[in-house]
Amino acid sequence: MNPVPDSPVQYIKGVGPARSRLLAKLGVHTVEDLLFLLPRRYEDYSATKRISDLIDGERATVVATVVSTQVVHSRRDRRLSLVVVRASDLSGILEAKWFFMSRDKQWIERKASEFVEGRSYLFSGTVKREGQSVSMPRPSYEPAEGARDSAGRIVPVYPLTEGLSQWQLRHLIENAFSLGYADALVDPVKPELLARYGLPRKAEALHEIHFPTDAQKIKKAFRRIAFEEFLLLQIGLALKRHARQTSRGIPHSPDGDLVRGFLSQLPFKLTKAQSRVIDEIRADMESEMPMNRLIQGDVGSGKTVVAAYALVKAVESGYQGALMAPTEVLAAQHFNTLESLFSPLGIAVRELRGGTSKSEREEIYSGLQDGRVSVVVGTHALIQERVEFGRLGLVITDEQHRFGVGQRAFLQKKGECPDVLVMTATPIPRTLAMTLYGDLDVSVIDELPPGRKPVVTRWVRASSRRRAYEFLRKEIERGGQAYVICPLVEESEVMDLKSVVVEAEELERTFLSGLRIGSLHGRMTSAQKDRVIREFAEGELDVLVSTTVVEVGVDVPNASIIVIENAERFGLSQLHQLRGRVGRSARQSYCILVSNASSEETVARLNAMTSTNDGFEIAEEDLRLRGPGEIFGTRQHGLPDTRVANILRYMGVMKEAREVASSICREDPMLQQDEHRPLKTELNRRFGEWFDLSAIG
Ligand code: ADP
Ligand code: MG
Repeated sequence: MNPVPDSPVQYIKGVGPARSRLLAKLGVHTVEDLLFLLPRRYEDYSATKRISDLIDGERATVVATVVSTQVVHSRRDRRLSLVVVRASDLSGILEAKWFFMSRDKQWIERKASEFVEGRSYLFSGTVKREGQSVSMPRPSYEPAEGARDSAGRIVPVYPLTEGLSQWQLRHLIENAFSLGYADALVDPVKPELLARYGLPRKAEALHEIHFPTDAQKIKKAFRRIAFEEFLLLQIGLALKRHARQTSRGIPHSPDGDLVRGFLSQLPFKLTKAQSRVIDEIRADMESEMPMNRLIQGDVGSGKTVVAAYALVKAVESGYQGALMAPTEVLAAQHFNTLESLFSPLGIAVRELRGGTSKSEREEIYSGLQDGRVSVVVGTHALIQERVEFGRLGLVITDEQHRFGVGQRAFLQKKGECPDVLVMTATPIPRTLAMTLYGDLDVSVIDELPPGRKPVVTRWVRASSRRRAYEFLRKEIERGGQAYVICPLVEESEVMDLKSVVVEAEELERTFLSGLRIGSLHGRMTSAQKDRVIREFAEGELDVLVSTTVVEVGVDVPNASIIVIENAERFGLSQLHQLRGRVGRSARQSYCILVSNASSEETVARLNAMTSTNDGFEIAEEDLRLRGPGEIFGTRQHGLPDTRVANILRYMGVMKEAREVASSICREDPMLQQDEHRPLKTELNRRFGEWFDLSAIG
């Protein structure tokens, strides 16, 4: 029987139900997914070192024999335990260490039991040397004898999940190759094209990626994978563009009394940047070509009022508007803002989200159908089937990078070619915006409302926490309010819940005793979240202890201090978003980053935070520090789920792919010729949903 790459991964020898559940956590469901589980990086095992020669701070690999495995309790924090594996290579002893929450007994045991005394392993990681003691926190490792072929070679390092090790994965991938799955993959890129760009066939590229022979060839192999991905994406964009150019949108009417009334009753004067963007939207909406505009504006630049303008304009022309936000918290807040702006004008606005009661939902559905409801705000509850509009003329998505293009398209299709506005606080480099949102026009709100004082940002060590919280208390005595952000301790949501609740309780007993504290995390129901946020917004709470669920959009202008615990765990852009929760009024605000981290990269990141408040500068620094792959990682930015994560690294390939795509589409705009069929099939299979190509066929 021929191997079919689309088969469940269980077809591979060594994958049973338990292992396939672990693989699913890595996004691997089919054999093909397994073949495309690309290494995050490569470890050069050709350069192993002796333990006695290890230097503090360097990354290194050693081969050593396990002498003992121990579980010990942290002296600093009783809730923490660590697994210490001592290994010797005759020149010295290395301690490999893993930290766990003490209550996670099964993880601790599992880790401890992975090592067999008397056996040799390769340990690879960052060295910590304190006097005679040499350790490696969380090294990667594998049995040295099991990896006979690893020593002295370049070895792929895969993303892992608890319970699945590097060498197990490598073994499974090896099986997939030997069963012929790689050769059975469809290769939609014609050999002439590969020859023109000097790229290998797909199966060859994958082989080099998983069983590398040399650094140059690895690079070429990744370029090959990127090339195909980008070619499909660029063809998808070309199809979309073609569809837009051939469709007719709604010419909304010129600003009348309703819009003028709206603008004159605003509680503040618009900034120049806001006015300019409003002018751009006005022109787009009044034209017959459908609007498709991206609004970029740093946190706090005032995007909401711009969105409100567009909504009022749509209503005045006799249409309905919808505003979709990525989180319940944000949807609720937008609703409150719009309601206070719209009710004096007699515009009916309603809110729809997961937690909306059945009877209210029904009422909103019928109101949207018969036009009694003019504006609806909500989460992706808006794209549910039951939601139908009488005359949808405008669709707005906030923080659009959290939604895929497909999700946006869903909402769009509830009207007949409505105008589309997307808003984001995440600066996207121009090159990337052009290629991936090639069909969007871009407006930038590059000015903050007047009177805003830059947030004063300080980085302190954990030993200064007491002083930090004393300062927070003073700020509250002076009439301010505070956020305290706790990162997720582990990846599971249960942990998330516990860490915040535990942290809130502990703070309540210690640094924050006597203050009114609320806590907020992803596992609360929407009603619970609402209540806490409302209490905080109304000043009934002094402190909100939260996970990053407040990251996007929450607007409580009286909050003037934010303390971010374990700040090293957050990316730079995320820290900037979090900081954006304060500094939303004329009050001087503060951001305190608590971190003991000392790695070069973290220090650079925290220093960037203390030295600038400018979102674009922060984004650039983030790029420089981490490489674009991580920040422009697909999940965070609603980019298509490409196999190469680091899109920006392959901008050259993107350009080539764009040239090829446009020449293909010029000749055959709907991809109907036989020779383009494999491309079309593959495009639909891989990105059909993301692009929402169903309409195009
Ligand atoms: P973001 O761009 O982060 O979504 P918001 O729209 O939430 O920003 O606005 C941030 C805060 O600034 C809100 O409290 C809003 O009322 C206020 N604001 C917006 N525009 C102005 C302005 N022109 N003058 C004064 N305050 C403004
Ligand atoms: Mg906003």
